[in-house]
Amino acid sequence: MNADLHCHSTASDGELSPLEVARLAKAGGVTLWSLTDHDELEGQREARAAAQALDMRYVSGVEISVTWAARTVHIVGLGVDTHCPALAQGLADIRHGRTGRGIQIGERLAALGIPGAWEGALRYVSNSDLISRTHFARFMAEAGYASSVDDAFARWLGDGKPGYVTHRWAALADAVGWILAAGGVPVIAHPGRYQYTPTQFDAFFGEFIDLGGQAIEVVTGSHTPAQYIEYADVARRYGFEASRGSDFHALREDAITPGHLPPLPAGLKPVWERWL
Ligand code: AMP
Ligand code: MN
Ligand code: MN
Ligand code: MN
Repeated sequence: MNADLHCHSTASDGELSPLEVARLAKAGGVTLWSLTDHDELEGQREARAAAQALDMRYVSGVEISVTWAARTVHIVGLGVDTHCPALAQGLADIRHGRTGRGIQIGERLAALGIPGAWEGALRYVSNSDLISRTHFARFMAEAGYASSVDDAFARWLGDGKPGYVTHRWAALADAVGWILAAGGVPVIAHPGRYQYTPTQFDAFFGEFIDLGGQAIEVVTGSHTPAQYIEYADVARRYGFEASRGSDFHALREDAITPGHLPPLPAGLKPVWERWL
């Protein structure tokens, strides 16, 4: 079983269409795949059809932007009913907030001596409803304000950097509630990226469990090998099922392409057993 349950397409901030990501997943040996675009279900139909044509199992997916303790966390929903009205409305509301925030990021960058960033970012946007910092980063790298997309985040766009605009995403209770209403499984995405204290992490995991959250990403393209071990331990301690996914966005940006990840550490319950 080669499960990759976290990938992005042109429906959010990926550079490849759902069909192209599906082909890459197939080439990477993926047997169970999920496309998990940010706050958007637009790519799901194409992804499922492509997976079917390529003889991969498919699980519908979405990655929801959440604000918890004044920081952004991402909650992946797997196996959601893509026609669930509560989920669709919640995601539409989040996407709506992205446009105003994008304009603000453009204004912030202009004040910092980087003009035309809003228009520049829009040239990279493939879903006009889904404007991400990634699109700004691609513009900044291309226009020479940064040496790469990663560098654009490190210098300008990352949390707390000069071009960062604070934004309120969904509440954790809302995101988990929409996923559960849609019959899906809520999964904490890339926990190793969050700048919480140990006390905050404990409160976050506890609240997630109380709300009905079930799983956590252990092996992800956003974790170091040391973090695979650290979050395997978290999964055992809190009784989380474990997930695995590349978080692939673009060939020229990501070292890890779909399917090319180590297996889950021993002794964990894979979140995907229910779909086999
Ligand atoms: P947004 O949802 O618009 O705030 O953008 C978040 C996206 O930016 C993430 O999903 C990643 O694709 C990308 N991203 C966030 N932080 C970084 C970082 N430090 N380096 C590279 N990409 C990042
Ligand atoms: Mn992204
Ligand atoms: Mn994420
Ligand atoms: Mn992601």
